[in-house]
Amino acid sequence: MTPNDCLFCELVRSGSHILRADGFAAFEDINPKAEVHVLIVPERHIDTFRQIGEFPPEEALRMLEFIVETARFLGLEDYRVLCTVGPSAGQTVFHLHWHLLGGRDLGGRLPALALAEAERED
Ligand code: 5GP
Ligand code: ZN
Repeated sequence: MTPNDCLFCELVRSGSHILRADGFAAFEDINPKAEVHVLIVPERHIDTFRQIGEFPPEEALRMLEFIVETARFLGLEDYRVLCTVGPSAGQTVFHLHWHLLGGRDLGGRLPALALAEAERED
């Protein structure tokens, strides 16, 4: 996977963003697993979190701060931050991304399960 044929590189370049700063972008997940489900990605392409050592330390820290800023911008007090690493952990897009999940009580369960249960209760 190279930046030329990467979906998230393309979305960083030309998608619509909730927030963007300092080489990072936040955009809505196309298939939300919680009331609020935002993806946070670095502009710099790495396939997975496994390669985080390729980021200068200050850039890695800035990425974590950008997640906090995005949550604050969305008015989330409590939320869950998830990163899938590899196919058997559920990673389907091979450009490092963080799932920011919040909104209706996530209930301390895995997001997909929490959403399914919340929908059954509606
Ligand atoms: P992963 O499964 O790799 O951890 O997360 C990939 C996420 O990207 C999934 O939650 C999926 O819904 C989301 N996704 C896949 N294709 C698109 C797309 O074209 N646009 C957006 N906004 N999200 C996408
Ligand atoms: Zn990419």
